[in-house]
Amino acid sequence: MQRISHLIGGQSVESASGRTSPVFNPATGEQTAELGLASIEEVDACVANSTAAFDSWRDVSVARRTKILYNFRNLVDQNTNEIAAKLTAEHGKVLSDAAGEVSRGLENIEYACGVAELLKGSYNANASTGVDVYTVRQPLGVVAGITPFNFPAMVPLWTIPNAIATGNAYILKPSEKDPSAPMFLAELAHAAGVPDGVLNVLHGDKVAVDRLLEHPDVKALSFVGSTPIAKYVYETGTAHGKRVQALGGAKNHMLVLPDADLNLAADAAVSAAYGSAGERCMAISVVAAVGDIADPLIDAIASRMEKLTIGDGTDPISEMGPLITEEHRDRVASYIDIGASEGARVVVDGRSQSFEGNGYFLGTSLLDNVTPEMQVYRDEIFGPVLCVVRCDSYVEARNLISDNQWGNGAAIFTRDGGAARDFQENADAGMVGINVPIPVPVGYHSFGGWKDSLFGDTTMYGPEGIRFFTKAKVLTSRWPDPATSSVDLGFPTTS
Ligand code: NAD
Repeated sequence: MQRISHLIGGQSVESASGRTSPVFNPATGEQTAELGLASIEEVDACVANSTAAFDSWRDVSVARRTKILYNFRNLVDQNTNEIAAKLTAEHGKVLSDAAGEVSRGLENIEYACGVAELLKGSYNANASTGVDVYTVRQPLGVVAGITPFNFPAMVPLWTIPNAIATGNAYILKPSEKDPSAPMFLAELAHAAGVPDGVLNVLHGDKVAVDRLLEHPDVKALSFVGSTPIAKYVYETGTAHGKRVQALGGAKNHMLVLPDADLNLAADAAVSAAYGSAGERCMAISVVAAVGDIADPLIDAIASRMEKLTIGDGTDPISEMGPLITEEHRDRVASYIDIGASEGARVVVDGRSQSFEGNGYFLGTSLLDNVTPEMQVYRDEIFGPVLCVVRCDSYVEARNLISDNQWGNGAAIFTRDGGAARDFQENADAGMVGINVPIPVPVGYHSFGGWKDSLFGDTTMYGPEGIRFFTKAKVLTSRWPDPATSSVDLGFPTTS
């Protein structure tokens, strides 16, 4: 059995805690590795190693850091297939989707390659007579990232490039469910020239997260995961004086207006609801069908669902793979009965599809006549179950989003520019798509939702990422002639 260890100070460090977590291949149900979970002492040793690395990394020139980031970018690009294979083996998503995840992660390294431009600061010569004022941004120190199972490569890459480009030392605590891709990314970073200790990978569960949250030498935490844990991480981390950004769950709505192109909308709904088995924080989980487009839209979605090929992600014909664990697959499947008992119409029941072997597969499901009071609407199901809510008007559909607990992504499908413009202005979500079902921003914008989809003041990556991982220092300087010096107890004013 493969044993996965921490990566601290450039060395593989075996956990001595005696606590482990199994890693499975979700397509076969076989255990493929065992992960050692960090003890409090191991977290402390890792933070000490990162602290020492930070002391020298912060002084490495921007030119040198940029070269290392370019190397890292090229190594990740060249190793896309190998990273994708690791993602498929432990997460289950199909290889093409896994390669897409890597390419979206690459955008963030490319953005950080421009760190010289991003850290330029600002300068006012002669702000007062003979006085210059300028602002520089400095690294925070040791920072940590805690990431979810569903994007084991892309989500770590949302923060690692900006954090290390700006001179911080970074500790990654990846999901215990699929740790091999993030480990490989860290190895590539070292091969690219990231010095030992600047990027450490610590495996663990709540014990490790709690210690990182309270450790005095960890200055900031980036978290991505489910809403209850995001809230806990935000509240605990900030109570310990840390800067925290904590991204949570979602229930993303796709509004389809009666004038929308039916085929375009149906293709988009199926792609965005069932891609990666619905295990995307930006997946569409609710279609709000306005007026008389509902019946033809449901038919068009159902007919596309019949043609989807579900199977092992390594098989090139598979379009959707298994879910992450057996328990999660069973939990997702249970929502079909919950929906039916609440009065939803089960148009397609994913449980009716049978699969060979012990993989955690589930067919795609479609529920109609869902209403906002139902549990299938209120809960984040995080699987291949799409709910359709029928609405009489655009405003009723838009208000669904406003009344929802989450505000990650929202999309509208229409040919009406006025409705689209209203949606742009008034949709109560952080990332909005107009005829785009999964509006994940490019690496030079920033990613983050509203309401219970994000706790904290800054979103992730892009310009906000640079801001999150740096603190501003404003300098005021003058070089007066000492001969003109005198004591002056007045408050300094400009002249
Ligand atoms: P999760 O909350 O179970 O785990 C996320 C991380 O927190 C993992 O590293 C895990 O080890 C750690 N963790 C788990 N329980 C903990 C506890 N009690 N105390 C401290 N740490 C704990 O999430 P997941 O199941 O890995 O990922 C799926 C969730 O992530 C979904 O809710 C999804 O919407 C969300 N997600 C959100 C975004 C976003 O950008 N908003 C992106 C990806 C995933």
